Amino acid sequence: MTNILILGAGFGGVSAALKLEKKLKRNFSASGGPAAGWKITLVDRNNFHLFMPSLYEVATVYGLIEDGFAKYLRGSVAIPLSETLENKKIDFVQTEIKEVNLRKRFVNTGAGNKLDFDYLIIALGGETEFYGIPGVQDYAFNFKAIDDAIGIFKKIREIYDNYQKENRAEPIKIGIIGGGFTGVELTAELACCVKNIVKACSLDKKCTQIQLFEAGPAILPVLNVRQRKSIEKRLRKLGVNIRLNSQVEEVGPDSIKTKAGGELTGFDLIIWTGGVRGSRLLENLGLKLTKRGTIEINDFLQTKNSDETSNKNIFAIGDSATLIDPQTKKPVPAMAYVAHDQADVAAENIIRTIKNQRMGPYKPFYDAWIAPAGGKWAYFHYKGLNIAGFWGYCLRQLVDLKYFLRILPLSKALSLFFKDLVMFTRND
Ligand SMILES: Cc1cc2nc3c(=O)[nH]c(=O)nc-3n(C[C@H](O)[C@H](O)[C@H](O)COP(=O)(O)OP(=O)(O)OC[C@H]3O[C@@H](n4cnc5c(N)ncnc54)[C@H](O)[C@@H]3O)c2cc1C
Repeated sequence: MTNILILGAGFGGVSAALKLEKKLKRNFSASGGPAAGWKITLVDRNNFHLFMPSLYEVATVYGLIEDGFAKYLRGSVAIPLSETLENKKIDFVQTEIKEVNLRKRFVNTGAGNKLDFDYLIIALGGETEFYGIPGVQDYAFNFKAIDDAIGIFKKIREIYDNYQKENRAEPIKIGIIGGGFTGVELTAELACCVKNIVKACSLDKKCTQIQLFEAGPAILPVLNVRQRKSIEKRLRKLGVNIRLNSQVEEVGPDSIKTKAGGELTGFDLIIWTGGVRGSRLLENLGLKLTKRGTIEINDFLQTKNSDETSNKNIFAIGDSATLIDPQTKKPVPAMAYVAHDQADVAAENIIRTIKNQRMGPYKPFYDAWIAPAGGKWAYFHYKGLNIAGFWGYCLRQLVDLKYFLRILPLSKALSLFFKDLVMFTRND
């Protein structure tokens, strides 16, 4: 029996499992080849696949009918793995991975339980990086998991309820730290959400200040000037105050202290989107890690050891891994479709290894991105093509639908797509 173990059911892990199952069935099931007896096991702490690109919508959804336990809201981005893996020859184990033993080739899932492997794909994603900044972990909302988004959603309701009850004179202040894609998308949608609350509750239009803090001299530094200006213009139109060169030094219960500007107080809500690092679980495995705690991989997506040798049957993909693009000499960015593309290559390379064939390299491609910036507005970029505004938003919807169709049966993909469309356009 050839055991293939995949750690993490995110964008990389789910894609790798589905791809492997398809390929193994096609290559070996009937013929009885070297992997006729094969088993794919996918492991995750959650029994759902989190569709992170819409997390900002969950945090800022407006006008939702009573949904006490946020069950309906959760269902908009938490895709049950039972649906994704339905009728697939893939075992799913829901457990917290406690230890990975590469030498003895097993994964410890606690309480003395072990999962052995012949091939391993590490797709554990990342963790939030707080850079040791005092107060961030204590006072700012994190923005990585579904509960973070639901926490923000509830907090916004509470803030505006209290504001009305207390009849207070000072404005509501919301601070978002981090001017990357996540911070920008969340800030813009928050501004749309606030606009609707203000209208529905007949509040003063100026009752809310939304401030976006960016440590560097520009938000979205990977974009070119034209692209960035277009998104900045959109944010300003939505009333967002962009604070550049504002490296945050400390966060308090209602304050944000920046290196250049000193302490600003009176914040009702502070959200941290300032950094991501590799999973702590990857430490002490003997693998070569980057400064951000991600695994260094070679072109075939095999993990590297601290002595620079590569592990034949151990692959890492997605946010857990870092590959230096040979053309730009810079790390390939952490993005959902990069994880997906790498999953395809890792799956193919496992099949090739089983068949004693030469492995193929992963060819980085990431000249494509979409930045939704509030309501029915998004900036879509693909190679030389740049589309901003409503049509950018439409393309984003199509990209989401394409992904749902890839991981779900047709009826379930369409049902999820339309559910999200109806729920998330209430802000627009
Ligand atoms: C808010 C937000 C918005 C984003 N929007 C976009 C976007 O619009 N477009 C885009 O391209 N990218 C986007 N990204 C980035 C994208 O989501 C990631 O690049 C992508 O999820 C990486 O896939 P992955 O498989 O490596 O990791 P993940 O998708 O993070 O999956 C990792 C999985 O491992 C599991 N796991 C981790 N540790 C353990 C453990 N110890 N035990 C058990 N299970 C464990 C987790 O539960 C998770 O399911 C966004 C990220 C965030 C946070």
